[in-house]
Amino acid sequence: MPETTEDAIIRIHNLSKSFGALAVLRDINLTIPRGGVVALIGPSGSGKSTLLRCLNLLVVPDGGSVSVNGTSFAFGPGRHLPGDRALSAFRARTGMVFQHFNLFPHMTALENVMEGPATVLKQPRAQVRAEATALLEKVGLADKADAYPAHLSGGQKQRVAIARALAMKPDVMLFDEATSALDPELVGEVLSVMRGLASEGMTMIIVTHEIAFARDVGDRIVFMRDGVIVEDGPPEQVIANPVHDATRSFLSHFNR
Ligand code: ADP
Ligand code: MG
Repeated sequence: MPETTEDAIIRIHNLSKSFGALAVLRDINLTIPRGGVVALIGPSGSGKSTLLRCLNLLVVPDGGSVSVNGTSFAFGPGRHLPGDRALSAFRARTGMVFQHFNLFPHMTALENVMEGPATVLKQPRAQVRAEATALLEKVGLADKADAYPAHLSGGQKQRVAIARALAMKPDVMLFDEATSALDPELVGEVLSVMRGLASEGMTMIIVTHEIAFARDVGDRIVFMRDGVIVEDGPPEQVIANPVHDATRSFLSHFNR
């Protein structure tokens, strides 16, 4: 996979973050080319969620820098935090999908997808409605546009959440255990939407415990442990033939 500076859409350089005495991210370096799909795996507590949250500044790093599609921020002593406007413009570049869908319960599926572009981006309502309708169709939920979240299955809710993130036209999509809260029979429909996005060329970081999916869709697997990237390489190498004992030991818990 090419990794020249020019076509890197995500660049994380020497990123560090501690919570009190606990160093959660230690000198993380990760570069992802446009259209790259990275599956981020690792034990609970290894810092995967914190890394994604640093990437869209939901968590403010202590040091290092992050860059998404040409906009960079550096952190550390003497560095000033970006102002609110710069911060929200930067956040809008990354679409986040979480384990729990956080849909607005009093809004229909369509209204949930329309909310960001209508309220945050203040786009014309007719255009927003047309795009939201197309996005619901894309995630296979054209017939659920008027349904409220309470009347949707977990898999359907998560697909609405993906459509909602896409409505902001992000440069990259970050998935944090998007299928972990789902009943097993509902996992496939969400993974298939994610797979479709990957094949359309969306740049994605996918935190997942679905190792077979990671292997299939990721063009790279990154294994983290204790705030450090231990291993980073093509799926066939990291999964079938890991270099590090820690990776091997982690993977032994899964059907591959
Ligand atoms: P993962 O997603 O790999 O399970 P996390 O990034 O959620 O790991 O957490 C890494 C470590 O940081 C854990 O020990 C967790 O308890 C700790 N942590 C995460 N967020 C906070 C926070 N806001 N305050 C204090 N500790 C946190
Ligand atoms: Mg996590």
